This record gives sequence, structure tokens and C-alpha cells, in this order.
Amino acid sequence: MARIFAVANQKGGVGKTTSTVNLAAALALLEQRVLLVDLDPQGNATMGSGVDKRTVPSTVYQVLIGEQDVATARVRSETGNYDVLASNRELAGAEIELVELENREKRLKQALAVVDGEYDFILVDCPPSLSMLTLNGLCAANGVIIPMQCEYYALEGLSDLVNTIKQVHAKLNRDLKIIGLLRVMFDPRSTLSQQVSAQLEAHFGDKVFKAIIPRNVRLAEAPSHGLPGVVFDRGSKGAQAYIAFAAEMIGRIKTI
Ligand code: ATP
Ligand code: MG
Repeated sequence: MARIFAVANQKGGVGKTTSTVNLAAALALLEQRVLLVDLDPQGNATMGSGVDKRTVPSTVYQVLIGEQDVATARVRSETGNYDVLASNRELAGAEIELVELENREKRLKQALAVVDGEYDFILVDCPPSLSMLTLNGLCAANGVIIPMQCEYYALEGLSDLVNTIKQVHAKLNRDLKIIGLLRVMFDPRSTLSQQVSAQLEAHFGDKVFKAIIPRNVRLAEAPSHGLPGVVFDRGSKGAQAYIAFAAEMIGRIKTI
């Protein structure tokens, strides 16, 4: 049975997609069977996996509205060695269409049940909002991975997200828990980064992942080549950090 993780943070540009794509590719390097679900109409995780969102035959949109099943709609990331349920602009319309459908928060969960046995990990890249799409990600997941930058305002947004996760846990998905906070774009020379990082550890304890992802230009360059950073430059500091994070995740799922 696959472990399903939503990568979520309603704040924009905090490293959700970079983390989802690189965790998927790093888990694949460690011989895990992975499906990446792109739940963001921006389609960045799709493109970053080397799948062209403009020409992909099917996307998560068709799956959510019940036109197609996951087994038909998924495509392969040849560069990353994992499967992708792609996304593009069409998904933006799903928000409205879903309102009319039965079980609207659980459409993704139901759809994923069909392929559950084929993967070790299913990773869901959520959009930067607490929308119906993100809700579908949270309802499908066993756990949430929260990427965050160690800056002052990061902590402010965190309480909204934690409250949403609590509500989803109470009303829609008793399985859901926060697996961990992932420190990303970390700058070890910044005093503020160090302070916020120490605060996170003090407050959230072992819910803070040991792996820390540094700010690393190779990770930012990789998507323009249609490659996950861990494939584009495996020796880079950023790639090595995501590989360490993948190993940590494999260890964690044994304790969940
Ligand atoms: P959105 O909310 O729009 O979906 P996001 O949370 O998915 O954004 P990303 O797209 O992963 O965030 O990252 C935002 C920007 O920061 C991108 O340009 C990405 O290349 C860059 N970036 C992410 N992580 C790193 C890193 N560790 N080092 C350097 N650049 C990074
Ligand atoms: Mg993103």
C-alpha cells in the first residue's frame, strides 16, 4: 500500500514544487516506486518532471471530474524515473466544477485507491491556497509535508495551515497528520535563519525534519532543463540534501 503525502503550504513560492519533484526523483533513485500528483494549475511540477503540460494527453483534471482513471491518465517522467499525474491550466476550472459533484473533497482519494498497490509513495504537490484542490490533496493523504523558509513571516502563515490540517483531521480525514516541517532555501550564514530554525525545533520537536535544504542555484536551474535537481546535478549540495531527505522519509514511514 502506498503512503500518500501532500506537500502543502498556502504561502506562494516557498519551495513546495521543488521539494515534491526532488523528493520524487530522490525516492526513485533509492528504488522506491513513486507517483507524483500535480494539483496546481500552474503545472510546474509537471514541467519540472520533464513532461510538457501543453501537449500531455490527460491530466489530473479529467481524473477529478471522473472522466478518466489514474491508470489511463498517468504518464512517465523518463528523466525522473517516476510516474506523473500531470496538470495544466485546465485544472483551474475544476475548482468550480467540483462544487457540483458528489463527495467533492474526496475525489482524489477515491481515484488514487485504484493504483495504491503499485507505489511505495504518492506525493501530491498542492497549489498555494487553501482551496478545494488543496482540500482534495489533504483528504487523500496520510500526512502533510510542509516546506518552509526560515524567515520571520513563515511562522505567521504556519498557524493557518496547522488549523486547516486540524479541521480536515476532525471532519474529513482521521488519518491525516503533519509528518514534518522541511526547512528549505536555508542560508546557514543568516542569523535570522538560525534563530527561526531553532524556534521551529523548540516548538515542533521531532516534527522538524533533520534534513535541511540549502539555497542552491542548481535546484533553481534544473526545471528549465526539464529535469529534477537531483538528476540535473546529483553532486550539488541541494541534490544531496534532497537525497538525505528521501532517506529520512523512508525511515519515517516505518514508524508511522
Ligand atoms: P508556488 O506557491 O507558486 O507553487 P512553490 O511553493 O511550489 O511555489 P517553488 O516553485 O518550488 O515554490 O520555488 C519557488 C522558486 O524558488 C522557484 O524559482 C525555485 O526554483 C526556487 N527554489 C526553490 N527551492 C530552492 C532552493 N533550495 N535553492 C534555490 N532556489 C530554490
Ligand atoms: Mg508550486
